[in-house]
Amino acid sequence: MSGPQVVVDRDRCLGTGICVVYAPDTFTHDEEAKAVVVGPPEPLDSVRTAIEGCPTQALRLTPDPLVEDEEGQ
Ligand code: SF4
Repeated sequence: MSGPQVVVDRDRCLGTGICVVYAPDTFTHDEEAKAVVVGPPEPLDSVRTAIEGCPTQALRLTPDPLVEDEEGQ
């Protein structure tokens, strides 16, 4: 599998639904109202907005292309 993947830290997720609003093709809620990934992180801009909007920093991209760029890799 290539390209960035998005992961949810379930221990941090409070189920606010912000990520689902910003990137509904990527996130949904499970039966515990925790965010789960249901698709690729596309469009990437929307997923980045969701990551930045998460109040508990429960979301991250791995690998993050911007971090790699900054590190010159
Ligand atoms: S925005 Fe963060 S806290 Fe809210 S549902 Fe998504 S992952 Fe959970």
